[in-house]
Amino acid sequence: MSILRADLSDLPRYSSARLEFTGNVEISLDANENPFVTVAGLNRYPDGQYRALKRALCAECGLCEENIFLGSGSDECIDVLLKATTLPGKGSIVVFPPTYSMYEVQAKILGLTCITWKREQDFSIDVDRFIGANISANVIFICSPNNPTGNTTSVERIKKLLAGFPKTLIVIDEAYIEFSDYGSLSSLISEYPNIAILRTLSKAVGLAGLRVGYLLAGKEIIEACNKVKLPYNLSSVTEKIARRYLKNRGKIREQIAIINSQRKLLTEKLSENKLVKKVFPSEGNFLLVLVEDAKVCRSELLKKGIVVRDRSSDYLCEECIRITIGTPYENMKLLEAWNEIAEKYSNREKISLVPKTKIDIQRTRRTVLFNAAVLFSPEQNEGGMYLLNSGVLKSLFLLGDEQKFRLLIALDGSKSEQRDEQEVTPESYSASARTILSLLTSQGINISSIDSRDMPIDSDRLVVISQEKSTGVSEDSSKESINSSQTISVSIQNGECLYKAESLYEALFFVSKNTPDLSISRKTKETEITCTLNLWGNGEVQIKTGIGFFDHMLSQTGFYGKLRLKIAAFGDLDIDEHHTIEDVALVLGAAFDKCLGDRSGIRRYGFSVPMDEAICSCVVDLSGRSELVWNASFKRERIGDMPTEMIKHFFKSFTNTAKVNLHISASGENEHHIAESIFKAFGQSLRGALRLDPLAMIPSTKGVL
Ligand code: PMP
Repeated sequence: MSILRADLSDLPRYSSARLEFTGNVEISLDANENPFVTVAGLNRYPDGQYRALKRALCAECGLCEENIFLGSGSDECIDVLLKATTLPGKGSIVVFPPTYSMYEVQAKILGLTCITWKREQDFSIDVDRFIGANISANVIFICSPNNPTGNTTSVERIKKLLAGFPKTLIVIDEAYIEFSDYGSLSSLISEYPNIAILRTLSKAVGLAGLRVGYLLAGKEIIEACNKVKLPYNLSSVTEKIARRYLKNRGKIREQIAIINSQRKLLTEKLSENKLVKKVFPSEGNFLLVLVEDAKVCRSELLKKGIVVRDRSSDYLCEECIRITIGTPYENMKLLEAWNEIAEKYSNREKISLVPKTKIDIQRTRRTVLFNAAVLFSPEQNEGGMYLLNSGVLKSLFLLGDEQKFRLLIALDGSKSEQRDEQEVTPESYSASARTILSLLTSQGINISSIDSRDMPIDSDRLVVISQEKSTGVSEDSSKESINSSQTISVSIQNGECLYKAESLYEALFFVSKNTPDLSISRKTKETEITCTLNLWGNGEVQIKTGIGFFDHMLSQTGFYGKLRLKIAAFGDLDIDEHHTIEDVALVLGAAFDKCLGDRSGIRRYGFSVPMDEAICSCVVDLSGRSELVWNASFKRERIGDMPTEMIKHFFKSFTNTAKVNLHISASGENEHHIAESIFKAFGQSLRGALRLDPLAMIPSTKGVL
């Protein structure tokens, strides 16, 4: 495959009158023009070669006229390039979204396939992975600085692409290059035959209305473009104005300097605004700004006579607006408007730490399998019926929500090992069960019987409620009905006991609280986090945040809190640890809040003081209200790879979404110990507060938390 369309080599360039003859003569009768002079000599065709303008533009980048193609805006250059490299309806291009959409639009108009290779979270292109994917395409477009993200792609990465795809045209769109600290890559043209560089007079030069763009590339590529283009694609007025204006280099440079310093100022000022979550660094004459609500911000600005672009529909740009840098006056007005809008919104609703990004919560229905002996008395009445144990109905009402629990009773002996001991036959159970189950159904409790040989064996959502077999119990004890002195165990399918209760009510209260592991995921432009939590677990933790010390700390909390906790976080650690730590705290807090539900039946308060020479008092109140009282400080800036300032911030963020009240005081000599004591004490404290007390129900004298 060659870079250019093979059939073009045999196609002669359309020869217009001005291509054939460009000199000055007294009488021109070669172009079928009107001989009467109209305004500014416009009765004549332009010089189709535009040599003077080409020379002016080439001089800047040390290239010759044969290396430049002029178009009506760089948009025309994109179209011409595609026509020069691909047959209509055949071939393909690669784009790296989020990016300038015109590449894809033009390709589709020409019937070409557009392959999209998404940028990474930080908007960079993973060139190695892309090369490894072995994608075949005619043209690859890289916008650098990229519109709308403002970042550049390094020369090293571009060289890798140029070398990796020698038969593909790599187009670098440098529409915004004058605003960047990185220079143009036009010097690579002499080295690589497969590079083309797009430039424009629409941005830094300030002639968007004139419609002039240009392409810099090797001679063959330019020749092919000339064959494909329409004759006289720039007007003579355009050419003349452009040429004159380019003499004004000093003024253009001055304007670029002002725009760049305003970009810096706007970045700083907007970052301080409450509505702004992030201003992305930019090498262009625009800023991409992540806000609370892009639609609202745009329409509020519009009400004040300022228009900006909402880029939310672009990949990775949800809730992002793009703001072009204006004059100092315009920017001042923009900042004033932003401040007014922020003020208005802060009066109406507190901008909370909780991002608007949707948090996905998955809950799955849990199957509760009762061992028959737990529900039925071993004694029959006169009619030969087995009766429900006392308190069963009241207990079953705790699990009355069909959306959450599927209730099964094992009537066969294989699981109900008490059967033999208690001399209860499956047949008599079945007969009794049918009557009792219909009675329960009439009371709103749907419980079905199941032969334990058909038991769901693959379910990790299954809990088995059985009567604890205690050693040393006499043969006779099998005759006893279940009473509160006996232990009811709640286990999972592998037999692991989750909870030992003194009554069926307490056991089912635990089941009602201990819903299956709750999964929450949250994705923003900065982080992607999944958290799975069970408040009454076994201390099993799996934490992966990319920050080793933070993982270690969360593991302490999970272990001492006897939680079951899994966290996987992928954040923009290349920028800072802040977003990852804060967002993990927010998600963990939200998971806590959801798991706690109405907070009934928990002891609510917890307290502990651990460890070594360091001491931490962590007092928690699972109150439903957010408050952090912090009394700990660190001399070191970091412990391992975790900034110490983020420890307090973690708890602040956690208390916000978990809606808990935490008082933490810690001191000691060794900073690692101090931090560890905090996370351990936090876990211990949670464990105490999470202990169940079915009698407490809502643990407040107010009746609500
Ligand atoms: N490339 C990029 C990256 C752009 O953002 C734009 C316009 N917004 C263009 C090319 C087209 O510019 P023009 O046609 O005005 O030269």
